[in-house]
Amino acid sequence: MKQKIPCFCDNDFFVEIPETINLDEDASCIDRIMDGSFMNFTCPGCGKRHKPEFPVNVLWPSKKMELEVLPEVERMEFYRRKRQANKKNDPKKETVIGYPEMAERIAVIRDGLEPIAVEAVKYYLQIKAEETYPDAEIRIWYQTYRAESLEFHIHGIRRDEIAVSRIPITVYEKTRADFIRHPKSEIFRSLRVGSYCSLSNMLRPEELK
Ligand SMILES: [Zn+2]
Repeated sequence: MKQKIPCFCDNDFFVEIPETINLDEDASCIDRIMDGSFMNFTCPGCGKRHKPEFPVNVLWPSKKMELEVLPEVERMEFYRRKRQANKKNDPKKETVIGYPEMAERIAVIRDGLEPIAVEAVKYYLQIKAEETYPDAEIRIWYQTYRAESLEFHIHGIRRDEIAVSRIPITVYEKTRADFIRHPKSEIFRSLRVGSYCSLSNMLRPEELK
């Protein structure tokens, strides 16, 4: 699909945007999504680099992943729509909002983890960080699995600094077992809105609930 990218130099330009990408067929996409260079475009007029977010479906058949990626600017619209019709069109398809969430989800699936259990672990970390730093705007991202631990990056404690938190796999496994036993318990219900499972659902402002 052709999309227009407006530039400050008044030199609008058109780019070809795929509606669907398949990570089994093009594994290089994974690296570009992880390093933030996915769907970056350079203005032919002034050379400025643009990083727009367009909706895209990300398929990863070998991992049974089907992801609907919405741009961050459509977050409010997503909640409004879900309130009207809280139904999933396609029960297999999961939603994430914004490219950073797309990268995080791909890392979770790559490492063979259960997304809702990872989001619940992030919730515990969020609560702890907010207690310790009540004035900070904390944002937590799953990074990788290494040395029997899940590694998270905590943004917002100090300006321009990222704190690293390592959570033993046993904490994750206990959370996952809780989910399997009590999938309808309050925390797991609060983490999901329709097809969208994210800690963002719990952190959203009251007017979006
Ligand atoms: Zn330009």
